[in-house]
Order: sequence, then C-alpha cells, then structure tokens
Amino acid sequence: MTHPLYDTNNIFAKILRSEIPCKMLDECDYTLTFHDINPQAPIHVLIISKGAYIDMDDFAQNASSEEQAAFLVAIGNAAKLTGASENGYRLITNIGGFGHQEVPHLHAHILGGEPIGPMRAR
Ligand code: 5GP
Repeated sequence: MTHPLYDTNNIFAKILRSEIPCKMLDECDYTLTFHDINPQAPIHVLIISKGAYIDMDDFAQNASSEEQAAFLVAIGNAAKLTGASENGYRLITNIGGFGHQEVPHLHAHILGGEPIGPMRAR
C-alpha cells in the first residue's frame, strides 16, 4: 500500500511517468537509474524505485523482497556502469527533514569519479 503521505507530484514521480525527461543510465522492472541534474562529482547518478516509496524508511518497511533486492542490484549495476566501483564511491540516501531529503521519492546517490573527501554532516 502506498504511504498516505506519498506526493504523486514529486519530480521523480514525474520522471517515472515520462512527464519530464532524464538522462537514463539503466532500468529494470523495479528501478530506474539516471544522472543527477546538478552533479556534485564527476560521477553522480540516482537510483530510484519505480514503486511509490517516500524514502528508505518507507521502502524497508513496505516494499516487497523483490523490490528491495532489485534496488540493491541496481546500485551495484550503476556503480559498475559508471566506473565508480573502480576506485570507490559514496553511496547516500537522504531521509526526511533531518536527513535533508529534497525529493520525497526513494533514491540513492552514487558519487564518484574523484576522491569524495570526508563526511561533513554539519
Ligand atoms: P535529495 O536531497 O532528495 O537526496 O536529492 C535530490 C537530488 O535530485 C539532488 O541531487 C538534485 O540535484 C536531483 N534532482 C532534482 N530535480 C531533478 C531533476 O529534475 N532531474 C534530475 N535528473 N535530478 C534532479
């Protein structure tokens, strides 16, 4: 069941409905991977679920095992396809207000292609 607070008009829901374009890298039945519009590193891609989940918290509690497995596989594929896995990368998923999540649809960021530096949370 879709979370009652899921916003069907968020930007990634619009990408999934092909209402706005994206620079796609990969796709499967459960996930879509595309380049971030405002890259923070030479490699910056986003892996999103095709299912309507707000964030990793919602996804962990409410997605099927197939969806969850596919999301992990898609992350691995994205790291390989972009070349990020060659030298390492940062994998981030922001959740909610304190996590500074801007788009309320589950997504993971892969940042790589150069040293990403230390974590600086605040
Ligand atoms: P968040 O802060 O929610 O974890 O990250 C959202 C990410 O989505 C940001 O890195 C932002 O640049 C990216 N983004 C926002 N709007 C669009 C869009 O229309 N297309 C693409 N490809 N990325 C977007």
